[in-house]
Amino acid sequence: MARPQDASSAWEALIRGNQNFVAGTPAHPRQDADIRKVTAEQQRPFAALFGCADSRLAAEMIFDVGLGDLFVVRNAGQVIAETILGSLEFAVEVLNVPLILVLGHDECGAVRSTMNAADGTLEIEGEYIHKLVSRIMPTVQRGLDAGERSIDDLTTRHIQDTIEEMLEKSDLISSRVKTGKLAVVGANYKLELGEVHMVCSHGEIA
Ligand SMILES: [Zn+2]
Repeated sequence: MARPQDASSAWEALIRGNQNFVAGTPAHPRQDADIRKVTAEQQRPFAALFGCADSRLAAEMIFDVGLGDLFVVRNAGQVIAETILGSLEFAVEVLNVPLILVLGHDECGAVRSTMNAADGTLEIEGEYIHKLVSRIMPTVQRGLDAGERSIDDLTTRHIQDTIEEMLEKSDLISSRVKTGKLAVVGANYKLELGEVHMVCSHGEIA
């Protein structure tokens, strides 16, 4: 595979790989000793992925890609933070990725915990888990105010809000989207089916 040079071909490559994974016929490309040698000299990932840290969201597996293909940043519930934005800006400015994929998933524990916190039933000790939940809370609160009760609706809203926050906070990312050099796609991963579904997109993408 030639390295995808623009957002549309990067997205196509991810979708093709995901189809292999869904069908149970992954090619496991670019995972041998040769590619290790080539990528040791320089990395040229074709996309950045910011996703939930959930163990079932294994980025290279679900998109059937290999070493050096994806610049991956993950935390529980894909919550924007300065270090996350710094990592994504690095992928865009230094590594020149044409696509950022923000990937959430169904039955996300972080979104579920935030829903529980909203109705006062979150029984969890960790101070920083509460801090993480508090970052998702405004989205969940707006969703509840709009009559959304299902975790699927709130997860979709969270993916959209995550991208809005990214574009609002990072001038570098938003200006590259405006000038057509970068696209940002939000998608939802279905744990059981293994499918990735686009939720929203910003920038030029076919
Ligand atoms: Zn999750």
